[in-house]
Amino acid sequence: MNSSEKGIERLLRSDLFGLKAYQPIVPPDVLSEQAGIPIKGVIKLDGNENPYGCSPRVKDALANYNFYHIYPDPDQREVRKELERYVGVSAEHIVAGSGSDELIDLILRLFIESGDQVLNCVPTFGMYPFCTEICGGEVVDVPRDKSYAIDGTKVKEAVSERTKIIFVASPNNPTGNVTPERDILELVKTGIVVVVDEAYYEFSGVTVAPLVLKYENLIVLRSFSKWAGLAGLRIGYGIFSTLISQHLLKIKQPYNINLAAEIAVKESLIDTDYLKSTVRAIIAERERLFTKLGELKFLNPFPSQANFILCAVVKEDAQVIHEGLQKKGIFVRYFDTPLLRNSLRISVGKPEHTDALIEALKELC
Ligand SMILES: *Cc1c(COP(=O)(O)O)cnc(C)c1O
Repeated sequence: MNSSEKGIERLLRSDLFGLKAYQPIVPPDVLSEQAGIPIKGVIKLDGNENPYGCSPRVKDALANYNFYHIYPDPDQREVRKELERYVGVSAEHIVAGSGSDELIDLILRLFIESGDQVLNCVPTFGMYPFCTEICGGEVVDVPRDKSYAIDGTKVKEAVSERTKIIFVASPNNPTGNVTPERDILELVKTGIVVVVDEAYYEFSGVTVAPLVLKYENLIVLRSFSKWAGLAGLRIGYGIFSTLISQHLLKIKQPYNINLAAEIAVKESLIDTDYLKSTVRAIIAERERLFTKLGELKFLNPFPSQANFILCAVVKEDAQVIHEGLQKKGIFVRYFDTPLLRNSLRISVGKPEHTDALIEALKELC
């Protein structure tokens, strides 16, 4: 035991003592306070949230619901049934979570024992290593290639007797590229659990969900946070072989998804025409933003099939740009890691957000 661990800390799990906190995004009211800009002037392009918000049907339904005093259904019968048609698989293959983040945690809890390994195709979403470590697992990083594609040979070489899970975000966060089906199948053939995180599926239109019926070690995760504008209500779901979904239903907290989220899913799925129109607007804006960013000499945007664009900053300091934008009330995500040097990730906003961003960038450099 570390002698610096005083009092109650001596009782903490020793493997969690040195854990680095997850770097979450900062809420708009705090951003507004930091920048000294009224909250209405804040342009939030750091969380890949939907700038058009949720379906208006969600707000009406939430205001008119009368049974908030009753616990939600532990078996999630209605939600899973409603998702059947949208997903194209039967309810027995579906489990919902408090955001897909909760499902990442549950999958790890189901498979990982102390010392088991998880392959992480970096650079990628920070929740995979974070949740793995909390579960006592060991993260093995397998770098993507120069164009951020997954190197199947390298991943397979990294598989050991202790490897239980491979995480693949597709489209990947923060790079925006999709992993083709044949590459995913190559990983599935290893027999290890392959989790394909399709949080941005609606922006790419590419999915491997139907393959879950064929391969019991393939899992697909989806979210209502990005396309459906429900990040604040915390609702996502996974598509699993029936054996895995049964085990997940057994180990999850009985009331893991709340009634408001259940109602929001129901109304969103009734209103997919509206939601898809906002997705189309975001995709069109993504292409316009990409062109505008590419016109700036100091930015090198990477093509994206999601609702954000990763930009390498050339001959300028990304951190200085990040802070300069912040002072103008524009918030983007800054990266400077060994595999993502001097970079910014910019969520696609409304056209007026693109215009304000480009103007601010021109003033800064
Ligand atoms: C945003 C994001 C999630 C989280 O989705 P929630 O449903 O809000 O928990 C999962 N995976 C990736 C890759 C993401 O970018």
